[in-house]
Amino acid sequence: MAALHRRNVIAGLAGLTAFGLGAPAVWGNQLAKKSIAKPTPPPRPKLVFLDPGHGGKDPGALGVRGTKEKVVVMAIARELQRELQAGGRYRVMLTRASDSFVALRERVARAQAAKADLFLSLHADAHPDSDVRGASVYTLSEEASDREAAALAARENRADAVVSGMKLANQSDDVARTLVAMSQRGTVNDSRRLAETIVRTFGRNGVRLLPRTHRQAGFAVLTSPDIPAALVELGYLSNPQDEKLLTVRQHQAALARALRASVDAHFGSGIATRKA
Ligand SMILES: [Zn+2]
Repeated sequence: MAALHRRNVIAGLAGLTAFGLGAPAVWGNQLAKKSIAKPTPPPRPKLVFLDPGHGGKDPGALGVRGTKEKVVVMAIARELQRELQAGGRYRVMLTRASDSFVALRERVARAQAAKADLFLSLHADAHPDSDVRGASVYTLSEEASDREAAALAARENRADAVVSGMKLANQSDDVARTLVAMSQRGTVNDSRRLAETIVRTFGRNGVRLLPRTHRQAGFAVLTSPDIPAALVELGYLSNPQDEKLLTVRQHQAALARALRASVDAHFGSGIATRKA
């Protein structure tokens, strides 16, 4: 289900429950207003949230020649920001704009507060075996997703939680659980689709990939219930060739172009044909 459609369904469900079947539901009013409004405004540019990993006191992985993960992922995030903004189709925000420490949950909270349409976390990996190299893409695992859903629907966590525009604090237990489950299921599917798109686009653009490139894990930064999210490990700083590449401006730009093409493809075939 498309994210927008899902939001409407969820808003409708909550509206019906909150106001009763006899009263006009919130989404009904919105639809009615939309049908008389003219002319149709151009679609709102999608908000892409970029998350350069680590920062401040947390350098992330360290390369054999001393390269810091927090520095290379910021350079690539800035390059990708320029790429995305150049076409005028996207708004771009970063979870951190400087070399500062931002907690993982805070990163998710910032994207949710801004109502992001997509969340991309950028990292570079390290491995004890220095021969291991290549990029990989992670999405939230099923277990981690279920755990998050249960935690979010739990009464004590509901106070400030907003899922798909609905305040969970105002909902009954059943409705809160349903809202979170519906939203999360759709988001997990969208996230997987996004990850597969990135893997395909990287492959087409000659970015070296790990075997079994799309993986699933319980990364806290991927836990937003209603924003499709993926974490991209752009290479291994523990591998001398990867480390060198990740610091080279042309390679950073090539990675940014491939990621921009992935975002284009994710949001629709109309823009998917743009070359990376
Ligand atoms: Zn990292």
